[in-house]
Amino acid sequence: MIDPFGRHVSYLRVSVTDRCDFRCIYCMSEHMSFLPKRELLTLEELERLCNVFIRKGVRKIRLTGGEPLVRRGIMELFRNLGRQLDNGGLDQLTLTTNGSQLERYADELFEYGVRRVNISLDTLDPVKFRSITRWGHFDKVMAGLDAADKAGLKVKINTVALKDGNADELDELVKWCGEKGYDLTLIETMPLGEIDQDRTDQYLPLSLVRARLEKRWTLEESDYSSGGPARYVTVRETGNRLGFITPLTHNFCESCNRVRLTCTGTLYMCLGQEDAADLRTPMRHSEGDLALEEAIDEAIGRKPKGHDFVIDRHQSRPSLARHMSVTGG
Ligand code: SAM
Ligand code: SF4
Repeated sequence: MIDPFGRHVSYLRVSVTDRCDFRCIYCMSEHMSFLPKRELLTLEELERLCNVFIRKGVRKIRLTGGEPLVRRGIMELFRNLGRQLDNGGLDQLTLTTNGSQLERYADELFEYGVRRVNISLDTLDPVKFRSITRWGHFDKVMAGLDAADKAGLKVKINTVALKDGNADELDELVKWCGEKGYDLTLIETMPLGEIDQDRTDQYLPLSLVRARLEKRWTLEESDYSSGGPARYVTVRETGNRLGFITPLTHNFCESCNRVRLTCTGTLYMCLGQEDAADLRTPMRHSEGDLALEEAIDEAIGRKPKGHDFVIDRHQSRPSLARHMSVTGG
């Protein structure tokens, strides 16, 4: 699949549910309304869609959400997609999770071929953790991290930089990740979906964070790329990678190789644009996959060049109405 700008689309992110057991302040409002269950694709339908994408050249699939591990029966999807690793259909099967259910699932994930997992963690302080996630239990996430380590999963930590939430702690997180052997990616808040507060209150430019971190750590430029939007440096003192995802201050779109599928079968060609393609209708209306393949080709043919997020003091409304938990982070 090659888009109009010559980019090969080889990476599919699938948001398997819009639900979550946390209510992170930058991601959701406290009283979210979620999709009625009947609107969701079944796990079999999600698998069918993934398989069509694999046949069309996708080599990497990441399951995300919402919280992917709260969807009932989700291990079945991991197991079935894991078979595509064995038969050469896929190079990588992975997930992004808040870690709350990992204690239970880490071993099984490894068994089905998952080798890497991104775990979102914004603070090491249990009290702050509670105020950022609203509903999360810090100890459960720590137990999940231990379980992931024991299972042999390579952990990368994702941390959203928050002006009031964790700005003074990012230095400590770099140290902790160094000790644990985890890579760390820092993310700027993106203006997606209505939340309960004004986003400009939380926005912390990573240029500022980086300048602060450089007072303590030696950040060596690295040409490593995970195929994603992060720009990486190596922290000389720990030997671990540190990534920066800066959608608002840096344009990463020129190397974008991904598309995003929601749990209702909508395909977003860009996280930061409204345009989307409905894959549920062609899938449900045909036994074979021809109509589906045509719908995918047509969608890839309109993958936009890039996003245009804005956060500024005069515009506190989100650039896009849909939450990150719908499209999948
Ligand atoms: N629930 C899982 C988790 O938290 O890892 C997976 C889905 S979550 C939407 C994926 C990632 O998006 C998380 O690392 C989260 O911190 C990030 N995220 C959510 N809302 C965001 C926002 N408005 N701006 C930047 N990152 C956001
Ligand atoms: Fe849930 Fe992840 Fe959003 Fe937090 S960031 S509310 S864990 S989907």
